[in-house]
Amino acid sequence: MDDHFNYQNKQLHVEQVALADIAALHGTPCYVYSRAALTSGFRQFSDALQGREHLICYAVKANSNLAILNVFARLGAGFDIVSGGELQRVLAAGGDARKVVFSGVGKTVAEMRLALEANILCFNVESAAELDRLNEVADSMGKVAAISLRVNPDVDAKTHPYISTGLKQNKFGVAYTEAVALYRKAHAMPNLRITGMDCHIGSQLIETSPFIAAVEKILLLVDALSSEGIALEHLDLGGGLGICYQDETPPAITDYIAALLGALQGRTQKLILEPGRVLVGNAGVLLTRVEYIKPGEEKNFAIVDAAMNDLMRPALYDAYHGIKPVVREDHAVQNYEIVGPICETGDFIGHARELAIAPQSLLAVMSAGAYGMSMSSNYNTRPRAAEVMVDGDKVHLVRERETVQQLFAGEKIIAGL
Ligand SMILES: *Cc1c(COP(=O)(O)O)cnc(C)c1O
Repeated sequence: MDDHFNYQNKQLHVEQVALADIAALHGTPCYVYSRAALTSGFRQFSDALQGREHLICYAVKANSNLAILNVFARLGAGFDIVSGGELQRVLAAGGDARKVVFSGVGKTVAEMRLALEANILCFNVESAAELDRLNEVADSMGKVAAISLRVNPDVDAKTHPYISTGLKQNKFGVAYTEAVALYRKAHAMPNLRITGMDCHIGSQLIETSPFIAAVEKILLLVDALSSEGIALEHLDLGGGLGICYQDETPPAITDYIAALLGALQGRTQKLILEPGRVLVGNAGVLLTRVEYIKPGEEKNFAIVDAAMNDLMRPALYDAYHGIKPVVREDHAVQNYEIVGPICETGDFIGHARELAIAPQSLLAVMSAGAYGMSMSSNYNTRPRAAEVMVDGDKVHLVRERETVQQLFAGEKIIAGL
């Protein structure tokens, strides 16, 4: 991160551009992404996987802006999608449908049709009922769907309960103990073709051990299938590698890949990974301006123009994001609650931050590239933020700020009431 977001003469820069200049040009709140940071993250994956047949399927839900998808598509990425809408984004961004894997527990008939029409690489199927539905839909289109079963390896990812997905009690994937029987069932279905196995055990993992535990369990199933004559072409080990928000020490991408490759020794299947957060999280910041300083009886509040509708992670998971001044100014350092204008006590961006700020100061909410804009909403009829991508010394607006008119364009007053 520090390679791409740095102070130069008291001014926080992204690559070669001062964030203050972006605020002046495009206003706040505004998400700002570094193309160099995106590229560097992707290259760390592809370099570490050199010499091994692989496909890096960026998890679109982490940040689905077309410009970001396009940067990854140009680098040769595939995509992990969880809806028909995400598929349409990938195609609009110049992504290759033949490199798309489709995850998710609730695929509709319409979404299956769209994906079959586009000839995606693989459906990551999450239940017996989904196998039946997909077989029927494919049959009705005269197609054969490539499938992988998302197996729930029942390992503890040791992450926040809302983003842990690989435990028995979670809604994701098929039960480990039922996987072989479901593969047999799929094998007998005329409009399905088994191509792989996948798992995804959670997000923001900061150790390699749960990944390795999952791989080991998955490989036992692969062997059981192979002894029944069901051979797999690929193994998809999902995403989930964490990033440093505060003081976490997740493994480096190269160490994570090395650990996976170690556990996969002697296996020849193509390796698919679905990284999301680790590719975009530290490649973006949320730029916001202080509207008011409000000294309270117990706490000082800095009320900023970004809110939980722009960045939901603090409210949803009590997540920590670093908050830095965009310009190092000479105000007294005080302890602030950094909060938004929304009518919810949960609307905070950060607690107890020591900052030298005044009204109109600009702040950068760090590590905001993943699950920031993509989880944003219009709560309180707040138009969503603008998004900007910096490339060296160039600033590209990659999403215009929403207008209020757009927000209620589809609404109607009932005539004749
Ligand atoms: C969300 C998700 C990912 C990406 O997770 P990150 O923690 O952002 O890497 C990958 N695969 C599936 C199936 C997902 O749901």
